[in-house]
Amino acid sequence: MTKLSNRLNRLQPSATLAMSQKSSELKALGVDIINLSIGEPDFNTPDAVKAAAHQAIDNNYSHYSPVPGYPVLRKAIIEKLKRENGLDYSESQILCSNGAKQSVCNAIMALVDDGDEVIIPAPYWVSYPQMVKLAGGEPVFVEATIEQNFKITPSQLEAAITPRTRLLILCSPSNPTGAVYNAQELEALAEVLKKHEDVIVLSDEIYEHINYIGSHASIAQVDGMKERTVIINGVSKAYAMTGWRIGFIAGPEWIVKGCNKLQGQYTSGPCSVSQIAAAEAFSGDQQCVEEMRQAFERRKNLIVELTRQIPGFEVSVPDGAFYIFPRISQFFGKQYEGSVINTSTDFAMFLLQIGHVATVGGDAFGSPNCIRLSYATSEDNIREAMKRISKTVALLK
Ligand code: PMP
Ligand code: GLU
Repeated sequence: MTKLSNRLNRLQPSATLAMSQKSSELKALGVDIINLSIGEPDFNTPDAVKAAAHQAIDNNYSHYSPVPGYPVLRKAIIEKLKRENGLDYSESQILCSNGAKQSVCNAIMALVDDGDEVIIPAPYWVSYPQMVKLAGGEPVFVEATIEQNFKITPSQLEAAITPRTRLLILCSPSNPTGAVYNAQELEALAEVLKKHEDVIVLSDEIYEHINYIGSHASIAQVDGMKERTVIINGVSKAYAMTGWRIGFIAGPEWIVKGCNKLQGQYTSGPCSVSQIAAAEAFSGDQQCVEEMRQAFERRKNLIVELTRQIPGFEVSVPDGAFYIFPRISQFFGKQYEGSVINTSTDFAMFLLQIGHVATVGGDAFGSPNCIRLSYATSEDNIREAMKRISKTVALLK
């Protein structure tokens, strides 16, 4: 029979990539679109990183690497974790993959069995529930509202844990909300987890360096948590290296070994040249990271100010990452030329088609009353996009 597997039929396509694709298609047709849909830095990869990649090509880094990555890269990651996070790992506790996306998926596939529950605070990054379903697990959503700054509380976590809970996925700074858990908040969540020894934490810290509150905290830093936490990180966001595809996990050896086995059968070690470039990113001069962070902070201040001026948009000020996630449900039920806005996806499509600004509806992030705007673009683009959005929503009656 010509049919796709049930596993694949259960899977939804990525809404962030789909919207970005749509925006590129319209651009190719000559429509002047401003793309606030995709979450990727608009900066170029730093020169020193590019130079390291050229060198790697000249030095014939053209063969398979060890599955978990070259020792030089794993050492650079170990030093980064020590220097920036105060955490000690050995080489056997690090596995490099084809982007942090594969790192997340490896860990979920390695840990989740059919029927296992995975707690995912909502709003969430679009791929988490889909990866959990791919593994046969059941996502359990815990809603963090805009009033609670999009962060779950310890009592919400406690109420969501059952004997079938296998994993908790934390993402801080968060995609899509920009919320950041501070050390005290993570300690309070860890207090709950200490009563449930079998629950592992997947701590997605890919936006670690895009932080506006001055410090990054990891739940692995809380006493007793490192042994049950898998840290996810990589070079995509901090070093403007989305296309190089290098992410990693740092975690307990038994989990890393499991992921290594999976990756060895599935994709092997990630791109050799990118690994050498990533090693330079982690161990070279870090000034570029701070410069990009400052640019993101200026853009954040600008977009928050402009969004607040649009009637109907309710904004929570993000503490990190490069997204704002305003609530726009006041527009539901309104219409333009006979088309009624019923969902956040309708609203995002309306902004795209009439306003020529690409955003992503909150539906895909488990938050149907909001939309996500990525401000990883120039201040001019942000100003123009918000002008367009303001004019466009004024058409809704
Ligand atoms: N986690 C989150 C929360 C993300 O936003 C992204 C970006 N797509 C990733 C992981 C994956 O990043 P990478 O580009 O390294 O695969
Ligand atoms: N993390 C980015 C985003 O959320 C990249 C797209 C993706 O991988 O989903 O837009």
